Amino acid sequence: MTDSTIFDKIINKEIPAEIIYEDEHTLAFKDINPQAPFHVLVIPKQRIATINDVNEDNAHLVGNLYVVAAKLAKQHGFAEDGYRVVMNCNEHGGQTVYHIHLHMLAGQAMGWPPYQNKKKELF
Ligand code: 5GP
Repeated sequence: MTDSTIFDKIINKEIPAEIIYEDEHTLAFKDINPQAPFHVLVIPKQRIATINDVNEDNAHLVGNLYVVAAKLAKQHGFAEDGYRVVMNCNEHGGQTVYHIHLHMLAGQAMGWPPYQNKKKELF
């Protein structure tokens, strides 16, 4: 897996981003096109392209994303009210950047379900 994405440039500080959290393995920064009052992306510094590439060897990096999400929720005061975390996968999931990221959306109640046009029967 060699293809890099725009997120590598953010990790390497080659392009600016509003970083709100950083540690050895994880980075969190504001989404450039926010869909909620608080919209932050939490990413592993090591690139994992999609959820399909998560395995026993890198699962701890994914776990860290949730640890950071929980910290940020408490720190920014919306842990109690609640929030949405989303990780999109490939085309049908709406993924556009192929470096996994947790979307953290907060600051208002979220709608559900997320799809607009139900085209198929449920299994
Ligand atoms: P996806 O569609 O892959 O689930 O989410 C990618 C997210 O990355 C989108 O919400 C998009 O707004 C955000 N994004 C894309 N490019 C940049 C960028 O250069 N900087 C920041 N901060 N966010 C970006």
